[in-house]
Amino acid sequence: MIQEKEQLRHNLDRVIWTIEEARISVSEHHIVQLVAVGKYTEIENIQSLYQLGQRAFGENQVQQLTQRMESLEELPLQWHMIGSLQKNKINKLIAQRPTLFHALDSLALAEALNKKLTEQNQTMAMLLQINSAKEQTKSGVMPEEAVDIYQEIQERFPQIRLKGVMSIGAHTEETPLIQQSFETTHRIYETLQKEGATLCSMGMSSDYPLAIKCGSNLVRVGSSLFG
Ligand SMILES: *Cc1c(COP(=O)(O)O)cnc(C)c1O
Repeated sequence: MIQEKEQLRHNLDRVIWTIEEARISVSEHHIVQLVAVGKYTEIENIQSLYQLGQRAFGENQVQQLTQRMESLEELPLQWHMIGSLQKNKINKLIAQRPTLFHALDSLALAEALNKKLTEQNQTMAMLLQINSAKEQTKSGVMPEEAVDIYQEIQERFPQIRLKGVMSIGAHTEETPLIQQSFETTHRIYETLQKEGATLCSMGMSSDYPLAIKCGSNLVRVGSSLFG
């Protein structure tokens, strides 16, 4: 559905103010980036959000990311790949040169990406995805292994520029469990700041204020903007 610009303006204002409220409660120096997730919406709505001032957009499929980056090539946008990456899509993703890949979820994927990046003489900024609630249905490395894996990727795979960590909040209605999952990831992020990590990507429409209070500095919001 193509949405009215006024509706989008209203949604964007509300999300920005909600982020503002949450981040100020952490510290006035705590700055949070908003990545607008367009996976459920039409490209026209992404263009409208751009006209309203939004610059960073995320997609969870390489196919759609590619189509949109190509269609909106003339706009000065940042593009984030936030979804799991299948090995057979690595070349396509690399060709698009996204701003940040959020879902590096195994050493095997890191190795495969590094190999292709080396062939193309390219680097890519990435986040290590952590399965902080240890859910079967989610990808990501286990929290106990995250620091070691992060360091190993930095040592072995020079074309991968690790910038921090990403998690999806626990899939439950129970706020304390969601909070726990964010706190787990944030603790790992704090440890990794010594390794140069600067991004902690946590929070979606249902839980981004909580994620920010737990230290997230990058939220990925879709349905609250386009819904
Ligand atoms: C879809 C998606 C989002 C945004 O979800 P909403 O609930 O629509 O805000 C964020 N992160 C990832 C990894 C996603 O796949």
